[in-house]
Amino acid sequence: MSNQHYSFFGAVERSFDKAAKYTKWDKGVLEQIKECNAVYQMRFPLKRDDGTVEVIEAYRVQHSHHKTPCKGGIRFAAEVNQDEVMALAALMTYKCAIVNVPFGGGKGGIKINPKKYSPYELEKITRRYTAELIKKNFIGPGTDVPAPDYGTGEREMAWILDTYSAMHPGEIDAAGCVTGKPVTQGGVRGRREATGLGVFFGLREVCNMPDVMQKLGLTTGVEGKKVIVQGLGNVGYHSAKFFQDAGSKIVGLAEYEGAIWSNDGLDVDAVFEHRKKTGSILNFPGANNFEKNTDALEMECDILIPAALENVIDGNNAPRIKAKIIGEAANGPLTPEADEVFSKKGILVVPDMYLNAGGVTVSYFEWLKNLSHVRYGRLEKRFTENLNAHILGQIEELTGKKVSDTEREFILHGPDEVDLVYSGLEETMITATHEIMNMWKANPDIPDMRTAAYVVAINKVGTSYAELGIFP
Ligand code: NAD
Repeated sequence: MSNQHYSFFGAVERSFDKAAKYTKWDKGVLEQIKECNAVYQMRFPLKRDDGTVEVIEAYRVQHSHHKTPCKGGIRFAAEVNQDEVMALAALMTYKCAIVNVPFGGGKGGIKINPKKYSPYELEKITRRYTAELIKKNFIGPGTDVPAPDYGTGEREMAWILDTYSAMHPGEIDAAGCVTGKPVTQGGVRGRREATGLGVFFGLREVCNMPDVMQKLGLTTGVEGKKVIVQGLGNVGYHSAKFFQDAGSKIVGLAEYEGAIWSNDGLDVDAVFEHRKKTGSILNFPGANNFEKNTDALEMECDILIPAALENVIDGNNAPRIKAKIIGEAANGPLTPEADEVFSKKGILVVPDMYLNAGGVTVSYFEWLKNLSHVRYGRLEKRFTENLNAHILGQIEELTGKKVSDTEREFILHGPDEVDLVYSGLEETMITATHEIMNMWKANPDIPDMRTAAYVVAINKVGTSYAELGIFP
């Protein structure tokens, strides 16, 4: 995991510089795009349940204001530090640009291991953190909008909303101050699984490109592909689940406490239940335990999906990785040294800042829903169903034939919120995949897909700055 000598922000800067060579922007513009615009480091006290007082270290970074609000998750982890939050904020800027979400990049982090705090203590920490953000105008539907990340979820987002609303009475758009909320609190259906679904849509699109698959010696499509996932949290669990549903074989799963494999494929929900019941992923019936959890990364497979934390594949273990495709579901799981190894070996790395953009894409849909104060599909669902029923009735009358009940249900169905969110996400990920691949094909000197993605992002952010008139 993250060690003291490794700079995650430095790694992002190195990837940026590698890509900047393939753009037309002058040095000053590139510098402006690269820097973090605002870094807020804070300390506040927490009175623990046993009466002792502890000082909490926390951050919010706004990497870019070329578009507002800034957007990015809040991480609760013992390893949080300023360098990490800056790197994650920068990735958010590029991520939003690639998937055409009109936000600047931001990120927050609180340096705690959430497992070591009671729910009451976590609530106090989250609410105080929100109050500190409010004091400095670092949160709000038009300024900076946090979301879940590692160690946080719907519960924390509800606390943030409640704190913000309480301190902004009557603000009609208050629900747009944070995304990833429970559906009952202004959340959008489909947000919970959005990042994992985006990972699936992105990798499926890559696997559907015959020329790319041919180069890797793989067949087209995701069906039958052997997949290994590291981290069975929000992103990893849903990624694994969508691959399994599409007919891929989940041959390995790795968690904090260990890892398991089975050549016949693992049932993701059954493993999830087993972990919930026994407290460990290990000893799952019919599966084998790996000696170390990191061994799972090095097992034979077609697609490896690291979905835990950054810096898990570096120059040391990269040469032992056997996957043909690495889908970066986590942020920054590969170091630049690992990138070099894979680039030389012809392994395709599908980069984080586009592949895990499903979360921010659906967060954007949630924010739009909050500003428009209406559930997606509410206005058109019934109208569409009535119209479809009428068209189908006419077709059946004219042909004298009836469609099956299953077909009838499918044709008549008007869109629910989740249908629209899924289709918006699918469209977004497919478009982004093609934009990046087209950039790569048009510039054969670009060494890898990550660099191509950065070029796309830098061009969009550069254009945005230029059109703002900051750089005449
Ligand atoms: P999460 O807290 O829901 O899950 C992370 C899981 O990884 C946990 O189950 C944890 O036990 C496991 N883990 C930790 N260390 C591990 C190790 N060494 N080996 C195996 N498993 C390990 O977090 P998440 O929201 O799923 O985030 C995971 C990654 O995805 C992070 O890099 C995050 O920045 C990124 N991401 C998350 C979102 C989102 O919407 N949640 C969006 C984009 C990117």
